[in-house]
Amino acid sequence: MGNRTSPDRRKAYAYVRVSTAEQAQHQTSLRQQTVDLKKYCTQNDIDLIEIFVEPGLSGSDWKRPEFKRMMLLATGDDHPVDCIVACDMARLARDVEFTVITQGQLQRAGVQCLFVYQKFEDSHFGMLHKLLTSWQDQDAIVKASMNTRRGLRGTAEEGFWVGGTVPLGYESRTVEVRSKKEKKKLFLNASEAAIVRMIFDLAEKGLNGSPLGGRAIAEYLNKHGYTRRGKKFYNATVAGILSRPHYLGRFPGNKFDEFGNLLPEEEWTWVDCPQLITQEQFDRVAALREERAPRNKPPRVVSGPTLLIGLAECEACGSGMTIRTGKGGRYRYYSCNSKVNRGASACDCPNVRAEKLDELVLGEVADRVFGEEHLEPLLTKVLDTSDEGRQHKIQELEQCEAKLADARRRLSNLHDAIETGAVSPRDPDITARLKQRRTEIDGLNTTVTTLHQQLERGPARITSAAVKKFGEIVRRELKHGKDEARQQIARAFIEKIHIGPKVEISGQTDALAHGVASVARSKGEVPTFDRKWCRLQDSNL
Ligand SMILES: [Zn+2]
Repeated sequence: MGNRTSPDRRKAYAYVRVSTAEQAQHQTSLRQQTVDLKKYCTQNDIDLIEIFVEPGLSGSDWKRPEFKRMMLLATGDDHPVDCIVACDMARLARDVEFTVITQGQLQRAGVQCLFVYQKFEDSHFGMLHKLLTSWQDQDAIVKASMNTRRGLRGTAEEGFWVGGTVPLGYESRTVEVRSKKEKKKLFLNASEAAIVRMIFDLAEKGLNGSPLGGRAIAEYLNKHGYTRRGKKFYNATVAGILSRPHYLGRFPGNKFDEFGNLLPEEEWTWVDCPQLITQEQFDRVAALREERAPRNKPPRVVSGPTLLIGLAECEACGSGMTIRTGKGGRYRYYSCNSKVNRGASACDCPNVRAEKLDELVLGEVADRVFGEEHLEPLLTKVLDTSDEGRQHKIQELEQCEAKLADARRRLSNLHDAIETGAVSPRDPDITARLKQRRTEIDGLNTTVTTLHQQLERGPARITSAAVKKFGEIVRRELKHGKDEARQQIARAFIEKIHIGPKVEISGQTDALAHGVASVARSKGEVPTFDRKWCRLQDSNL
């Protein structure tokens, strides 16, 4: 089987993960996931290249080292795999924004996502389904991470090391074990501490009295065989070391409240650790580095997202829209390429303020695709299919349980007959029937257990309340989320934006198609893109 190579076989990375909460409930163990993944790959002619394992305690979607490593490899130029396989969507991501970004990266690299317990269409609709699924229990996740943050806060308040990378110069040692949890503190690591002190000395006095910059220090250390636990030094790592508060004997153990918001500095919890550098030297080095730093110049061009480049098209001349700046770089405009390249006379399309168009278009996607009244009809199919598979299993379970009750009843009848002497237990026919009943009961028991497990493990039913909440989350992301996520959602659902006297958005989903006409006609909250509005913007140039 392993030697069979045909062009139809696909290569895959597999990803398994359990969260702390799941680990506590003994759900979806790493072992079970690995077994299910291997079986799935065998059944689907997929060669498993590597399994990436993220054990519990790995924190948020954004901080998972193994996932990062897998993404980096999977999206590499050498295209090592055709797909990524995971048991369900929640293994890969539970945060809408994160899902959108990773899915976009994989899509661009031509890598497909496959799930053992779930199936998604390869279309805009499938993308929507994926988004919804990834979100499903974000609520639960938010609550779980609140608890984790509370826990971290407590750990920091008691003066323990809260985990993460131990800074160069220290090592963490367990000082106490409390209800199976190891409590750690930072201790000096003599050989590493010597390197840290040398870095500060070089930054202050150099080799012959004149201070060295970060790059020169890194070069010196690498040339003389010093490492950071086996890794090379760079300008950035030296800069990081020279500004690390730990070396003064204390570090911020917690900077966030239980909702994940950054607290003002005076509310941080500080934890003591061994001091490595004197306050005086630390300050002298900081002053020297401040002097050497290039003056902070305001950037000439306002940089910003280019959310709609590649999607927006000039209605008058058909060329793409690009970003240009006006008002000495203070404003950004979408302007058509022919106008930018061949001068204002080439096309009379209006310049459109970038943030206004971004806001309008993303706002439309938010309301038209993810609006409450559009989302549910659009997702009826998802609601149906998610229920169908589950209903099917529940039915099977009910049937098995009925059969099991029947088999038990018949076994008990046999026992009754033996007891009353109606039949003899020594009758070979009776012995055979007893054995048959028992085998049947064992088999049915196994099936019932398996079905129960599958129902527990499989994706939860998508309810219309979940769809509603999902809509809220995506609308919020689209309007206030990270630019990369907003751009990815726009790309996933918009095909073209025609910019002329009116703005027309077209996309594949029904909601978008129906949305177009009303965008142009609307006179309500959505700003209309008529000549007047555009001229108004022109006068701003
Ligand atoms: Zn044009």
